[in-house]
Amino acid sequence: FDNRPGVIWYDGEMVPWADAKLHVLSHGLHYGSGVFEGERAYGGVVFKLDEHTRRLHESARILDFEIPYSVEEINAACNALLAEQGLKDAYVRPIAWRGSEMMGVSAQHNRIHLAIAVWEWPSYFDPAQRLKGIRLDIAEYRRPDPRTAPCKSKATGLYMICTISKHAAERKGYADALMFDWRGYVAEATGANVFFVKDGVLHTPTPDCFLDGITRRTVIELSRRRGYELVERHIKAEELSTFSECFICGTAAEVTPVSEIGPHRFTPGEITFNLMNDYLAEVQPKSAAHKQMAAAIG
Ligand code: PMP
Repeated sequence: FDNRPGVIWYDGEMVPWADAKLHVLSHGLHYGSGVFEGERAYGGVVFKLDEHTRRLHESARILDFEIPYSVEEINAACNALLAEQGLKDAYVRPIAWRGSEMMGVSAQHNRIHLAIAVWEWPSYFDPAQRLKGIRLDIAEYRRPDPRTAPCKSKATGLYMICTISKHAAERKGYADALMFDWRGYVAEATGANVFFVKDGVLHTPTPDCFLDGITRRTVIELSRRRGYELVERHIKAEELSTFSECFICGTAAEVTPVSEIGPHRFTPGEITFNLMNDYLAEVQPKSAAHKQMAAAIG
């Protein structure tokens, strides 16, 4: 991924993609002092850009550093980069980290860097396959207690357990893994939040030790518009067998139905399909992808 055409926005400049490098003694690499965002542009507009950039700033503050660019400057940089790369439908990845001036756990005065990359990641899917639902493994790692990890920060270091869990799931033929939290409650997938349906009511875990995703909040708003009842609460592992529908949601996943979690089976149904369709209508109204999905849902 490090040798592509085009440019990366790096500390205020457009740098050729292959030259956007950092020093091996960067604090961010050694001690995990990095925060990032994952955003999607649809038709040239980044969905909820301001919310993502504000979360990036907040993530950094939680890790005790301040990004040296304002929210407005970062928003403008994302838009300038999309224009420069000539991309309308793309994934946007800003990342901020502590630099390499001092080595050691303490690095109070190390320079804070910011880079932004954008690349084509069309919401390409085979609608029929996606509608059937994806299969989730049950992760061995658990989301840590908020007293153990800065769980409200989209921090690079918190993704270790996600990568390990996703690799283990993929080796067993699953698409992703569902993680429980340190208490044993259902938490989230490795890069997306989770929702369930039982007797026409939506249930989703209380985000008290994992990211309250921007897509999650959008789905909650969309379900309100539909007049669906939604309960945010702690969900026990034993309850998984009682739900009829399940889906995950996130910037990359959008709304994706789930057909299995370990031994539990779900049948994607009306509520999941309606929210999947409403989400596509919200982010990319009248696009080819939306029309294709709407037609597949019927
Ligand atoms: N949880 C995790 C661990 C994630 O990486 C993501 C993706 N950023 C989400 C949830 C969903 O967040 P969002 O809807 O803001 O993309």
